[in-house]
Amino acid sequence: MTREIQIGKLKLGGGNPVLVQSMTNTDTRDVPATLAQIRALAEAGCDLVRVSVYDEECTRAVRALVDGSPVPLVADIHFDYKLALAAMENGIAKLRINPGNIGGAVRVRMVADCARAHHVPIRIGVNSGSVEKELLAKYGGPVPEALVESALGHARLLEQAGYEEIVLSMKSSDVRLTVESYRLAHARCDYPLHVGVTEAGLPGQGTVKSAIGIGSLLLDGIGDTIRVSLSGDPLPETKAGWDILRALNLRTRGVQLIACPTCGRTGIPVAAIAERVERELGDITVPMKVAVMGCVVNGIGEGKEADVGIAGGGNGAGVLFVKGQEPEKVQGDLAEILIRKVRSLVGQTGKRE
Ligand code: SF4
Repeated sequence: MTREIQIGKLKLGGGNPVLVQSMTNTDTRDVPATLAQIRALAEAGCDLVRVSVYDEECTRAVRALVDGSPVPLVADIHFDYKLALAAMENGIAKLRINPGNIGGAVRVRMVADCARAHHVPIRIGVNSGSVEKELLAKYGGPVPEALVESALGHARLLEQAGYEEIVLSMKSSDVRLTVESYRLAHARCDYPLHVGVTEAGLPGQGTVKSAIGIGSLLLDGIGDTIRVSLSGDPLPETKAGWDILRALNLRTRGVQLIACPTCGRTGIPVAAIAERVERELGDITVPMKVAVMGCVVNGIGEGKEADVGIAGGGNGAGVLFVKGQEPEKVQGDLAEILIRKVRSLVGQTGKRE
């Protein structure tokens, strides 16, 4: 098991629930826009949110962002130890910085001392594209051994400065390389692992790559926090992260849809109902499995894992089933009937947990 690290009010590693994170893509210096995105991500279920901190103005924005954020924030910093110090002074909960890139042992010690004083853990993030030349030469390319040795090399610099509140990541856009690198890191150290397939692409292919990479690791018990990296709006990253955790029964939150693939027996517009249910019940945080099945022949049986569901019942009618109750024949706007039923089960606002 990995060691436990505290990030503000959150616990990471040590067998605690896997945390979902994402990253803003607004200009960090634009506090209202960044705060709006942080809040939207938190609302969607992000446990912590990372923001880029690339100049002094960003470090000043950090204070307002921290004050207005409902979740702990992570500062993403490259090369500049002064930005790291300022972000910590201004209340950031976690840093992402690679100590080997900040200009020597004195600066590493300054960052480590400041992190200790402010209780700020540090994530070391190695990417296959940024592995040191010597390691690439030693191993003949960006192979798992090179990524892990790079990450552990950065970690050693912090350890030598007496600081071990460390999280590691070693990402690649190549799924196999990512998975093998994390497996190796898991075998070699007990630092919590931030898992993700980097630069995975657009939501379609990127979600598949992320689900395979992150999912394979989580199935092996590897990974303490996950980030799905998709091009564009970060909100779909959070949804995908949660979908991965829900698919593996690692965490539950909101509506998990069970919908049949449809076939010749399908008696109701399954896809349209399912899409509407997912869209209109997106605000619900209470864990609930909702089924939309095309027919009663197999529908009720196939959907019996659900808490509530609807199956096509012939001539456009439906059958509503609620766990442990007799199925009820229903007619009319089936999506509306199902949505009302779910809301009545979880309460009007859907926000109660
Ligand atoms: Fe076909 Fe019925 Fe199965 Fe849907 S639930 S795929 S309609 S048999």
